[in-house]
Amino acid sequence: MTLRARLTILYTILMVGILLLFGVAVSLFFNDRVRSQLDQELASAATLVIENIRVDPFGTLVVADQILTSELPANLYVLVIGHSINEIYYSNLPFRPPLDPIGLRTLNTTVRDAQVGNLPLRVRTVPLAVSDRQVGTLQVGLSRDLVVDTQRILFSLTVAGMLIGSVVAALAVWLSTRQALAALSHATASALTITRADDLSHRIPYGGPADDEIGQLISAFNQTLSRLERLFTTQRRFVADVGHELRTPLTVIKGNANLMRRMGCGDEESLLGIEDEVDRLTRLVGDLLLLAQAESGKLILGRDAVELDSLVLDAMSQLRVLIQPGQHLRLEDVDQVLVIGDRDKLKQVLLNLISNAIKYAPGGEVIISLQKTETHASIRIRDTGPGIPPEDLPFIFERFYRADKSRSRSHGPKGFGLGLSIAYWIVHNHGGWIDVDSQIGQGTTFTVWLPLTEKDRRQPDSEQPA
Ligand code: ADP
Repeated sequence: MTLRARLTILYTILMVGILLLFGVAVSLFFNDRVRSQLDQELASAATLVIENIRVDPFGTLVVADQILTSELPANLYVLVIGHSINEIYYSNLPFRPPLDPIGLRTLNTTVRDAQVGNLPLRVRTVPLAVSDRQVGTLQVGLSRDLVVDTQRILFSLTVAGMLIGSVVAALAVWLSTRQALAALSHATASALTITRADDLSHRIPYGGPADDEIGQLISAFNQTLSRLERLFTTQRRFVADVGHELRTPLTVIKGNANLMRRMGCGDEESLLGIEDEVDRLTRLVGDLLLLAQAESGKLILGRDAVELDSLVLDAMSQLRVLIQPGQHLRLEDVDQVLVIGDRDKLKQVLLNLISNAIKYAPGGEVIISLQKTETHASIRIRDTGPGIPPEDLPFIFERFYRADKSRSRSHGPKGFGLGLSIAYWIVHNHGGWIDVDSQIGQGTTFTVWLPLTEKDRRQPDSEQPA
């Protein structure tokens, strides 16, 4: 779930909660106030009525007539009874008495909510006693309609407020976070573009205030990019400088080894060992210089028409010397394909991939094919070697990465882990890509995809001119 959606939900829930609490608090407060006002009115009304009641010498209750003219509230219900509900001394009830049957059962003064039919009442029950002897009971009641109605209105208002409040809160948060978070999404998109383009010279643009949180985040990220760019530039320069510096001594060592052989100094085995190692180091220096140039943008690729079929045959015949006894290198399908690019560099891609296949599939088979699809040429190099472990596959195009370190370093063929990164860079800069499919124990297939020329794209099936 996005941060924006999470914030919207959180604030909406918060708003609903606050409104609910507010509604309940107002309702409780109002209820309490109205009840205590009703209770006060009932208490003073009961006092007024009691003042108009006397007990005759036979112990019978007599309600004076002026009760009708006294200052009682017009909507007050009054009931004066003797020992039972059948002994009614005074009643102005329009319904069957009593007002509150439960109140009648207690011996103390009570104030209670009661319900007569649909009429909600607040009823005060007062036992009437003469010299500690109860002679009757007075009940006065007032309608609770106002309380009930007001509670109903408050409930409706709270629900409506919650609905409106939640919609308003959700809209407000959703809209107000749009601008703030848009800057973050924009920064993320820019950061991804920089990563994909592998170009540390780019910076994330930000038009907002530099001292807000997002401005600070973007500025920190840009500073990191600057630092990384400086580090990479220094590293590249270092590699290029070291490469240049090593070239001359290596040529001198090789020349001297040759001279020693011609002069008959030193034994042949040692001289061959020296020459092998010098050749290896010369290749490493060449690869390092090529990568340094490529990454600094100084390597300019040619744009010639390259016949891939003849390039494949060329590379294969050059590598036949590496084939060991029992190993087979063969060509399967070959379409005639023309691409635009740098012939030497494309040949280097094929040399790196085919020599890897030969190197890692001793005693096995290496099969090459060249095919043309509607838009691309595909060169497939398949071997029946040991395969690449799945955990290494994502990294094999990285510089100096070797999947099986022990094998590559010690007994087996020696490599520096640069061949695939060079091949990747060259193909990538020709507008293509390299696929790899590998199964442990069954072999590895590298497929190089290169875009066809415009002419070839329009006529996918037509024959190429000889
Ligand atoms: P290296 O000089 O070590 O061959 P590469 O960049 O050419 O360097 O290859 C990187 C790693 O990928 C190699 O060390 C090897 O482990 C693995 N690899 C490349 N091609 C093959 C292959 N055809 N079969 C098995 N492993 C391979």
